[in-house]
Amino acid sequence: MKGSCLCGAVNFVISTKITGLYQCHCQLCQKQSGSTSNTATIVKDRYFEWLTGEDSISKWKKTSGFTSDFCKTCGCPVPNRLRDTPYYWIPMGLIDSDEQSSFEEVKISSHICCHSKALWDRLPESGTHYDDMPDDLDSFISMLSE
Ligand SMILES: [Zn+2]
Ligand SMILES: [Zn+2]
Repeated sequence: MKGSCLCGAVNFVISTKITGLYQCHCQLCQKQSGSTSNTATIVKDRYFEWLTGEDSISKWKKTSGFTSDFCKTCGCPVPNRLRDTPYYWIPMGLIDSDEQSSFEEVKISSHICCHSKALWDRLPESGTHYDDMPDDLDSFISMLSE
């Protein structure tokens, strides 16, 4: 499936099946998304490929390690490598709408960093709620894609 930024400069393709999505409600993700949370998934790097616009990406990194990569032209958040891991973080809003049929059985299965959510953010009853990050990050990631 393909994804792109708001202005279309940055394009990428994912060649694996996505099986789960999560929302991170931490304060950094609130600011990065301008909303309650990021809705994202994580894929193995061998299934992720840039098509165009890698040179259009700016990077901002907090000393804690939190990274925000975004399109220089439109400011849209774009995928980035999860620190030194073999995984890419994928912001789901970038997946193009003609790919929606791939998601008929996929839902937001987890909410993380729920303790730092915005006061006006009402979490749904559904899904697994984590106060902070999941303890077992590897098994968490393995539920998100094949
Ligand atoms: Zn852009
Ligand atoms: Zn977060």
